[in-house]
Amino acid sequence: MTEEFTRPVYYDEDADSSQIDTKTVAVLGYGSQGHAHAQNLSDSGVDVVVGLREGSSSRDAAEADGLRVATPTAAAAEADIVSMLVPDTVQPAVYEAIEPELDEGDTLQFAHGFNIHYNQIEPPEGVDVTMVAPKSPGHLVRRNYEAGEGTPALVAIYQDETGEALEEALAYAQGIGCARAGVIETSFQEETESDLFGEQAVLCGGVTSLVKTGYETLTENGYSPEMAYFEVLNELKLIVDLMYEGGLGEMWDSVSDTAEYGGLTRGDVVVDEEVKANMEEILTEIQDGEFAREWIAENQAGRPSYTQLRNAESEREIEEVGDRLRSMFAWADDE
Ligand code: NAD
Ligand code: MG
Ligand code: MG
Ligand code: MG
Ligand code: MG
Repeated sequence: MTEEFTRPVYYDEDADSSQIDTKTVAVLGYGSQGHAHAQNLSDSGVDVVVGLREGSSSRDAAEADGLRVATPTAAAAEADIVSMLVPDTVQPAVYEAIEPELDEGDTLQFAHGFNIHYNQIEPPEGVDVTMVAPKSPGHLVRRNYEAGEGTPALVAIYQDETGEALEEALAYAQGIGCARAGVIETSFQEETESDLFGEQAVLCGGVTSLVKTGYETLTENGYSPEMAYFEVLNELKLIVDLMYEGGLGEMWDSVSDTAEYGGLTRGDVVVDEEVKANMEEILTEIQDGEFAREWIAENQAGRPSYTQLRNAESEREIEEVGDRLRSMFAWADDE
């Protein structure tokens, strides 16, 4: 464990594999995270059973990968650790089915805190409740593991009834290869709220609105859709890659002085104090549960607004222009 950060960070040497190598882990779900956790744990010598519904199309995939498959309930019944890796919106229903199989001393584990933090799942006493959340999509968690490398992850303890919840979670993080890269300790609250804020304000919501507004401003002022697409969407990847590699500094160093001066003087004109106030509002709705209530109700109603919004987004001019341009140019095949 290192103390150079504001939170504890753990590595392989902080993990004790005996915390998990005699236990059975039920991995519920075989999607992005599920397939990676199940295969990595199994390759690390842990007994894994994948929990999937009868008739689930993922069953064949898990079996083809050499894993044992059972229903979620049967898998949970034989497990010491139940890793909840079905979609967040599906978890409460799956939890209801497996709750009777959670014995004293078992662990219920998550890769995202939404359902615990917003009380959609209320585990019984006597059960440890933990989180091991890789900070990347599952295919990278698997690919890095196979390459002998790691994927950074978060670890959090919500309920520690055995007194060994953290030790076991770290052993799990080691088993999926994340402790090779580093595991940062957080809380369910911090992980859930900061994750929602990041995706809404910056990563998914903020960036797409910036792109759409930039595209509209150019095209409404007579610039061609193709030029607008290249300038505000396509080039974004180059900028993000530089920031990912070396922070804001590497990006500023790599662009022209004109771009750097223009960006430094005009960025805050676009994202002004009002935008900051909007972000505060978004954060408040996350903290007071308003966003969670809205999203849960939207799902219960069969996703009417979500479906409408998705359709409208896919019909935007920038999407049609992008489809055409990407099919015309070879760079799209590079990835
Ligand atoms: P996913 O959508 O990729 O996979 C879900 C799997 O669950 C499906 O493949 C299927 O096997 C199963 N499933 C689907 N519907 C089901 C149902 N009704 N009943 C039973 N099983 C069903 O999910 P994911 O993205 O791996 O997310 C799993 C968890 O990991 C979530 O809590 C998510 O927030 C978290 N997480 C995801 C990522 C990511 O990049 N995908 C990263 C970190 C954490
Ligand atoms: Mg059990
Ligand atoms: Mg996130
Ligand atoms: Mg998220
Ligand atoms: Mg330019």
